[in-house]
Amino acid sequence: TKPQHREEGRSVDQMDEKLRPQTLAEVVGQRSVAERLSIALEASKKRGEPLPHILFDGPPGLGKTTFATVLHNELGVELNMTSGPALDKKMDVMPYLTNAVEGSILFIDEIHRLPKTVEEFIYPVMEDFRVDVVLGEGISARTINLPLKKFTIIGATTRSGMLSGPLRDRFHMHEHLEFYDIDDLARIVAINADKLRTTITPDAAWELARRSRGTPRLANARLRWVRDYATARADGHIVLSIARDALDMQEVDSEGMDKQDRRYLETLIQVFRGGPSGAEALAATMNLAIDTLTDEVEPYLLRRHFIVRTPRGRRATPAAYRHLGLPEPVSEAP
Ligand code: ATP
Repeated sequence: TKPQHREEGRSVDQMDEKLRPQTLAEVVGQRSVAERLSIALEASKKRGEPLPHILFDGPPGLGKTTFATVLHNELGVELNMTSGPALDKKMDVMPYLTNAVEGSILFIDEIHRLPKTVEEFIYPVMEDFRVDVVLGEGISARTINLPLKKFTIIGATTRSGMLSGPLRDRFHMHEHLEFYDIDDLARIVAINADKLRTTITPDAAWELARRSRGTPRLANARLRWVRDYATARADGHIVLSIARDALDMQEVDSEGMDKQDRRYLETLIQVFRGGPSGAEALAATMNLAIDTLTDEVEPYLLRRHFIVRTPRGRRATPAAYRHLGLPEPVSEAP
């Protein structure tokens, strides 16, 4: 149920597990988020109480799952993982609630996709650790309050805007994860190369970081490819020229954009004359799921100012034309 980046398969996801930082001290970047979490951790340890409910949002692959697993390691508590789409009915979520032990963590990925009925069902859980269960039907129906152990819900979403106000309000901490800067990502690449028992020069790590769209999960996938390339074509040691050749072969361009990113910009510029165009029209033209377009492709293009969002839709910026080597449109005479 974990959303996969388009470039990755199952094996990369397993590799991600191996490369995940285990403690808060091992987490690179996202400093202010990590600092707030360490305060929450310390308070919870000192009081002997569960962590507050925490909501993480941000584009895929930036470390939402990593933070949840780090918190569980730091506290030494049980962690159970599920996701919004897997919790179709109230009865799907019930075992997670009644089996939760004191202080444990329940991680719900893609929490914006919880059905309304399940969402409302967990409100009293988040507020005062009880569920209301209706027994019987019709006039003989009665509601009983089932008390639960005190535990923590950690929600993750790529779309915090889609979360209902009441659900959002029930999370005590809201942490937004941003794209990583190149230095932080290069540090992650170097650490992970080490974990994979591969040697990489600092300039090669930096090149890989620069071309990974600010996303650790993508940096890991690209590192794995570059490592294979270095083994097949050279002596396994990753130097700058090897990193460059391997990424070029994968059609990752100088800005880290892959074929799909470029196709997005080409469609917007060549089919929709640079926009404004609605996301639905773009997704349909590219034959791509709208969620993939808005959650995976667009955030980084927005961040790099290759596109802007306007009330009438997406528009390509001059930087996008330049990146694709296309002539910029001459602005219309007033
Ligand atoms: P999704 O939203 O799709 O679940 P995610 O945001 O939870 O994605 P993770 O699976 O947590 O992303 O991160 C992917 C991988 O990136 C991790 O296995 C880890 O190797 C690396 N990573 C992520 N964040 C960090 C970090 N802050 N420091 C070091 N490595 C990181």
